[in-house]
Amino acid sequence: MSNKTDILIVGGGPAGLSAAVNAVARGKTVRVLSGEHTILSRAEAIDNYLGLYHLTGPELMKRFEEHAAAMGIIPEKGRVSNILPFGGAFMANFSGRIEEADAVILTTGVAKARAIPGETELLGHGVSYCATCDGMLYRGKKAVVWGLAPDAAEEANFLKGIGVEVAYVARGERPEELNEDIAFYPGRVAAVEGAEGRVAAVQTDADTIPADALFILRSAIAPAALIDGLEMEDGFVKVNRQMETNIPGLYAAGDCIGAPLQIANAVGDGLVAAQQAAKHLDQKAKKGE
Ligand SMILES: Cc1cc2nc3c(=O)[nH]c(=O)nc-3n(C[C@H](O)[C@H](O)[C@H](O)COP(=O)(O)OP(=O)(O)OC[C@H]3O[C@@H](n4cnc5c(N)ncnc54)[C@H](O)[C@@H]3O)c2cc1C
Repeated sequence: MSNKTDILIVGGGPAGLSAAVNAVARGKTVRVLSGEHTILSRAEAIDNYLGLYHLTGPELMKRFEEHAAAMGIIPEKGRVSNILPFGGAFMANFSGRIEEADAVILTTGVAKARAIPGETELLGHGVSYCATCDGMLYRGKKAVVWGLAPDAAEEANFLKGIGVEVAYVARGERPEELNEDIAFYPGRVAAVEGAEGRVAAVQTDADTIPADALFILRSAIAPAALIDGLEMEDGFVKVNRQMETNIPGLYAAGDCIGAPLQIANAVGDGLVAAQQAAKHLDQKAKKGE
């Protein structure tokens, strides 16, 4: 099902919720698509956020969420795995569903995951972060799914359903929802090996699994892997003072654009990004685009 909204916000931390309340305050429709946890939930005490002294991270986040909810904004939980600009608007793959918007604000925080050996070299040549985007390429072939996100087992089931031979790697117990025909390997993926520029095998802690593809399904995806052609600088999304990226209609705010990695800064960036996104949409409407 497709649902067009004015502004999609990817990430429901301080930057994302600030962008959301400010976009709504400017009369725009918004949807906040977010993973389960913001990094803020790990903070024991916040002493430098003006007006709300000495709350824990979870307490402060609860205040932000209550504020957003009072304005009708309830973040939808899931994972955005791909964003595609088309005809001046955007399509986002959100936990397997395609969502459409006229503008997008990235507030994904800091992507902490370090690439495994072979991942960067083989990205787009058998390594993928999105089963619903690239699954069809591996119909009748072998794929390993590395399940690091809550919806990963469902994505593995999707691949199985379209005719991919799937092996599933994850820490802990076999997920209950995993299709019983999918082989389960407890542990982690240590490396992906290539031959002639394509994925040939996936190494776990204990096994080498011959495979044509590796789907790495992390909760957080580096912004450059989310959207083709996004300009980065020192590992962060490159923006100007209006929080504009190099892609028209795409904005970024908060920790994902770099230091200082602080709440007040994220909240301020979110405000600017929302204002600019709203302005962009108003200008488009004026021109009749
Ligand atoms: C232990 C600790 C203590 C801290 N103490 C302080 C302090 O005292 N003062 C202070 O100012 N700051 C502090 N910080 C920093 C502060 O938490 C961050 O600066 C702030 O949370 C950044 O907000 P953000 O919205 O940019 O990113 P985040 O809070 O990281 O939120 C990012 C959101 O994006 C979601 N997301 C990411 N990728 C995707 C995807 N592909 N699809 C869907 N959702 C996605 C995540 O699930 C998350 O909800 C602390 C941080 C830590 C870890």
